Amino acid sequence: MKTVFNFCAGPAMLPPAVMQRAQQEFVDWQDSGVSVMEVSHRDKPFMAVAAKAEADLRELMAIPDNYKVLFLAGGGRGQFTAVPLNLLKEGEKADYLITGQWSQSAFDEAKRFRDVAIAGEIDFSQKPIKLPTDIKVRPDAKYLHFCPNETVDGVEMFAEPEVDVPLVADMSSCILSRQIDVSKYGVIYAGAQKNIGPSGLAVVIVRDDLLRDDVTVPAIWDYRLQSSKDSMFNTPPTYSWYLAGLVFEWLKDFGGVAAMEKRNAAKAELLYSAIDRLDLYQNQVDPSCRSRMNVVWQLKDDSLNADFLAEANALGLLALKGHRSVGGMRASMYNAMPLEGTQALVAFLDDFAKRHG
Ligand SMILES: *Cc1c(COP(=O)(O)O)cnc(C)c1O
Repeated sequence: MKTVFNFCAGPAMLPPAVMQRAQQEFVDWQDSGVSVMEVSHRDKPFMAVAAKAEADLRELMAIPDNYKVLFLAGGGRGQFTAVPLNLLKEGEKADYLITGQWSQSAFDEAKRFRDVAIAGEIDFSQKPIKLPTDIKVRPDAKYLHFCPNETVDGVEMFAEPEVDVPLVADMSSCILSRQIDVSKYGVIYAGAQKNIGPSGLAVVIVRDDLLRDDVTVPAIWDYRLQSSKDSMFNTPPTYSWYLAGLVFEWLKDFGGVAAMEKRNAAKAELLYSAIDRLDLYQNQVDPSCRSRMNVVWQLKDDSLNADFLAEANALGLLALKGHRSVGGMRASMYNAMPLEGTQALVAFLDDFAKRHG
């Protein structure tokens, strides 16, 4: 198998050690003669997998006891729907901070069902791109939704907005990448396919006082119902849950989130400093809010894009094309990306600039 570094934004690379273990266990799990995919979610062996994954996640994120952890189907966008339905009755309000395409999409979805307003937004016509400074939350808003890491725009918020209402965060592309204080949040959710495991799964961390029994929610996304059933009201995405558990074990072996945060900061520093140093490239995000997970940049000469991507691809540096809406390039460097991947990318940036500068 050839060595490649896969910078795909999502579904993203998983740690090779996890993939190899999953492969070893694929058809004969725990000497059972069957795959983990083929066993009942209600039987002891799978229940143990589910419980261990939750316990490991709780340990990795230091999740306080008054928070429920749910493993649900429907990915990140499923939660764009589930959040307003679980937290708001008809007529109640919530506000959304818009810092890029994902928070905009979450807002657009909530607007279909509930009274939501924009609490602040980035003006992307201004360069460098900076976070909004004045955040206005309506006094009767039930929560403020925000997206700490905007996967498409390459913008990250390293501090929580300071407001008096519960925070709801879409952490799809930054969960477990750096340490956070869970107690500052009402709800944290994440689609799994960036830092946790396969697509289709969502992890939801919800403070228990926010569980309501006076709202009507599709049953499989009903936080209260699902937490009373340990996320097994319906058949959960069992294989994805199992793989998430392997990723959590791998992260614990790595040294946990603090150790991972160091490596993520080092990777980002390495790549941004190359982009800033080399004349051929530019990044338009203010250094105070540059994403560590998704580094976006442009070649100042657009006509070199195709050559850049073809050469990168030939070297095994995969999926560097920017999101179709923003163009340019993007390197997603989630937890599974080793430092060597970033180093190889930087070496290529240098070499390409030398030949085309
Ligand atoms: C990828 C992503 C999503 C969408 O997740 P799906 O599982 O495709 O619905 C939502 N929010 C953010 C921040 C993302 O990066």
